[in-house]
Amino acid sequence: MTTSGRTATHCPYCALQCGQWVDDTGAVDARAFPTNGGGLCQKGWTAGSLLDHPERLTTPLLRASRDAPLTPVSWDTALTHVATRLRALRAGHGADAVAVFGAGGLTNEKSYLLGKFARVALGTSQIDYNGRFCMSSAAAAGNRAFGVDRGLPFPVTDLDGAEVVVLAGANVAETMPPLMGHLTGARLVVIDPRRTPTAERAVASGGLHLAPAPGTDLVLALGMLHAAVVDGHVDLDYLAGRTTGFDDAWSVAAQWWPERAERVCGVAAADMRTVVGWLARAANRYVLTARGAEQHAHGVDTVSAWINLSLALGLPGREGSGFGTITGQGNGQGGREHGQKADQLPGYRMITDPAAREHVAGVWGVDPGSLPGPGRSASELLAALGRPGGPKALLVFGSNIGVSAPDAESVRDRLAALDLLVVADFLPGETAMAADVVLPVAQWAEEEGTMTNLEGRVLRRRRAMHPPPGVRTDLEVISGLAGRLDVTGFPADAGEVFEELRLASAGGPADYAGISYARLDAGEALHWPCPTEEHPGTPRLFDERFAHPDGRARLVGVDHTEAAEPPDAEHPLRATTGRVLVHYQSGAQTRRVAELAGIEPESFVECHPDTAARAGLVDGAWARVVSRRGVAEARVRCVASLRPDTVFLPFHFGGAQAANNVTIAALDPISRMPEFKACAVRLEPVDR
Ligand code: SF4
Repeated sequence: MTTSGRTATHCPYCALQCGQWVDDTGAVDARAFPTNGGGLCQKGWTAGSLLDHPERLTTPLLRASRDAPLTPVSWDTALTHVATRLRALRAGHGADAVAVFGAGGLTNEKSYLLGKFARVALGTSQIDYNGRFCMSSAAAAGNRAFGVDRGLPFPVTDLDGAEVVVLAGANVAETMPPLMGHLTGARLVVIDPRRTPTAERAVASGGLHLAPAPGTDLVLALGMLHAAVVDGHVDLDYLAGRTTGFDDAWSVAAQWWPERAERVCGVAAADMRTVVGWLARAANRYVLTARGAEQHAHGVDTVSAWINLSLALGLPGREGSGFGTITGQGNGQGGREHGQKADQLPGYRMITDPAAREHVAGVWGVDPGSLPGPGRSASELLAALGRPGGPKALLVFGSNIGVSAPDAESVRDRLAALDLLVVADFLPGETAMAADVVLPVAQWAEEEGTMTNLEGRVLRRRRAMHPPPGVRTDLEVISGLAGRLDVTGFPADAGEVFEELRLASAGGPADYAGISYARLDAGEALHWPCPTEEHPGTPRLFDERFAHPDGRARLVGVDHTEAAEPPDAEHPLRATTGRVLVHYQSGAQTRRVAELAGIEPESFVECHPDTAARAGLVDGAWARVVSRRGVAEARVRCVASLRPDTVFLPFHFGGAQAANNVTIAALDPISRMPEFKACAVRLEPVDR
């Protein structure tokens, strides 16, 4: 859709997918769209500056050996080299010697084709993606409770009428500021160890900021469920008519009266009762979780605890109320639906389900028995690289894992142990610069496709300009590699890929069969599931029934478990990580935008002034944040509102400043989500 030389598309960054106009020079303007109401944050406004950035990769690079420098080569040389090496590694060590790593920022078409490429062209089970680090706990908890995983099972605009909104581990005032425009009429309750800008807004709205110790969110939710029961706020008719499992949930929550919960999490029992009362008495009320609640070694159970509370109060499946999770990455929702996850096939089908394998194999024209089974999850995959029995080659699309994965120093060691590392990227991020082959690819304004935003609405990404000479799209890269591996069925045209995706997803939980570019280009608002071209899409799930066979939601008995690495004498502080307003993910893009880098040019460690003083530090000094795994250097930022037992690091910086140098790859037993939000550290002064 182009008007006056400007093309209607969406921001490349987060899952709010704000509407943008982009012209053929890359100039960005805000475009009215329901999620952003015509606004953009600084990241969206400045996204165009990366299109002609001086560091833009515009030619393939290849190093002859691990110690040799990257040198420019032709596309044919690069792709033929990769295909030849992949053939040799597969012949010598089996199909699982080659691994693929995708991303929640890839379009639906790329996610789909990458999953097919891994399973059909490479025959490997070893594919996963960085959404494992983002949405996996919320996804698993949503599936467990509701029978389906769609981050927000209602449109964002439903929040406009909310009277009370609980944000558990969400700092949306910084991560997706336009979303705050939907919360202006609500009393907000923000649960976060830090006094974030979102927490400030909560207090200003007449609400509360609750600051549990990192790793104790589940205890807080249990204490609130206990208060809901004892104070008579439970919706008994709703529980009886629409749910099962309350007795299991209560058997645990009964032991967590608010005063006991307070002793563990540090939130006042009176505040728990107050918030539950607000939720119970409001007509329109929501509980929303985000990474603060989810990025734990027990993230699935933590989200389940918030769902239990929401179900006990009768929120989900009622217009004007609900439970949801705020998806992070631009295509965090669609990216987990179409087959780049280790255990999934397109349409959110499970790869272990014989009927799913038969359906997808039929679309792909292969024998179901030829499809590999589930592979390793992201952290486990990275930990196996270059080890006996582990992958010897890794193809990376859209992810900067040398910065964004937990325990990043050991991840960088694993990448160095590979026989072949191939990275498709458009800027020389840390992982790309460690690769043997770098493939320069197009950016958002240079390509066609679809994204699925945080409310499950499928959106068109449209090409506003052609990529620079020498640059190809990710789809062209996958197609080119497949051709050199003598495999057919990998078109480079996004529209063609989407038509196949529709067939592959048909009948699955995330059914896109009725969604077409034509309908989207005509302006239809299509939320999945949308099984036929006559179907209007499903903006609100659960109005009539939940997606389990009996139509009921499940409460689950979940209990508190200590963080994987509690503080001790040597590492007495709890470190938690997160985002700041002007940066996104590993910062590979936003650190290169001068306006943004000028605001936050370097990493910092937020700590209480007393905590800094005990370590011999003052505000503005450089500190070493030391864990059992590594060190992150950061400038001290003293914040009197922060708990003295807690420090905070943004995860947008690389090298010696990478927050993930200290984080721990302890994994949730269900989602395999790493524990980004709690590890034990100490602070030390550093000379600079
Ligand atoms: Fe909107 Fe997110 Fe882009 Fe900011 S980063 S403009 S909130 S989509």
